[in-house]
Amino acid sequence: MPYRATLHHTVGRYEQFFNDYHYMIAYNPKTKQAYVKKGIYTPEDNDNTGDGRYAPHCALMNTGNIGVAICANYQYNHKTNTSDTYPITAQQLELAFELLAELSIKYNIKIEEIQTHYERDKKLKKPSGKVDIIFLPSYSQVKKEEVGNFIRNKVKWYISKKNKNTLRLI
Ligand SMILES: [Zn+2]
Repeated sequence: MPYRATLHHTVGRYEQFFNDYHYMIAYNPKTKQAYVKKGIYTPEDNDNTGDGRYAPHCALMNTGNIGVAICANYQYNHKTNTSDTYPITAQQLELAFELLAELSIKYNIKIEEIQTHYERDKKLKKPSGKVDIIFLPSYSQVKKEEVGNFIRNKVKWYISKKNKNTLRLI
C-alpha cells in the first residue's frame, strides 16, 4: 500500500506528459481548465520497486510513494522560481490539493507524509537541490519554507469535505 505522496512540477509544458509520475495535473489554456492525467504506472506499482516496474519520480524514495506532478515550469527560471511561459496556474494548484486529498483518503496517507519534492530532497544525505515546489504564483506571499505546510493545510480542507464515496479524480 502506498503510504506517502510527493508533489512535483514537470518542468514541461501544460499538456506534456511523463511516465515518471502516477498522476499529472495538466492545463488546457483554451478552456482555462486543469485536469488529471494518469501515467502508465499505478500507485501500487511502487509498493515494490525491486522489479523496475514503477514510477521513478523521487530518487532513493520511490517505494510506497505516489508521484503527483503539476505539468508546468517549462524553462524554469531559478531567479524567479517560476516559468515565464508555463507558470503553475491557480486551477492546477487547486486540483492538485484536491487530488492529494483523495489519495490521502483512499490510501490512508498521513497528512505529514504528503510532501513536496523539495522537502524530501532536503532530507537526503546528499540533496540534489530540487526546487519543486518552492513558489506558488497564485499565492506569491507564501515563503519558500512555508510552501509545504501551506499545501498540507489546503489538502486537509479537502479531506474534511470528502470521504471514500465522493472521490472523483482517482
Ligand atoms: Zn520532482
